[in-house]
Amino acid sequence: MDKKTAVTEGRMLPVMEAFYTIQGEGVHTGTAAYFIRLGGCDVGCVWCDVKDSWEAEKWPILGVEEIVDEAMKFPGRMVVITGGEPLMYNLGPLTSSLKSKGFTTHIETSGAHPFSGDFDWVCFSPKKFKAPHPSIYEVANELKVVIFHKSDFEFAEKHAALVNEGCKLLLQPEWSKAKFFMNDIVEYVKFHPNWKISLQTHKFMDIP
Ligand code: SF4
Repeated sequence: MDKKTAVTEGRMLPVMEAFYTIQGEGVHTGTAAYFIRLGGCDVGCVWCDVKDSWEAEKWPILGVEEIVDEAMKFPGRMVVITGGEPLMYNLGPLTSSLKSKGFTTHIETSGAHPFSGDFDWVCFSPKKFKAPHPSIYEVANELKVVIFHKSDFEFAEKHAALVNEGCKLLLQPEWSKAKFFMNDIVEYVKFHPNWKISLQTHKFMDIP
């Protein structure tokens, strides 16, 4: 099987980096996690802090077994698949291999491509730059909206109306605008208590 076919089938994937750290944001903040950052993103957020991830071709193509073997070297059994935009790929083979080894599988996605894979936790972070695929709404466990502009509160409510009832709703200040918008976010959550605040605590801890 050639590499292109293997990537199309999700048996090989471009991996920008993989590392063991603490989940810094969202519902699972503070939990030890192995992050797998896949290369490739076509969403184009102006404030993206991993622009290096955008070109998939820059990163080594690894087999699913090799990716899982690396994760096995660490004691934590929570894996977060992120990017880039990980749903550009068929995540079925990677997630089934991870689950067969006892990992719980999490994803962080903009939802811009059709959903794939077997996930225990889906963090859906929609972006204005590319509309989500409808398949994400019924599987999202966590809606995390980055606040970069005042209009993002309205954007957040628009997506909150489409996710399942049990989906956790989080507002997260974009790092460079955090000071500017923090007061607005605090006031918003005080008067819309179905939302919570998510902070990028890994940046305060100075860890990846
Ligand atoms: S979806 Fe994520 S990786 Fe892609 S441009 Fe936006 S912030 Fe960057």
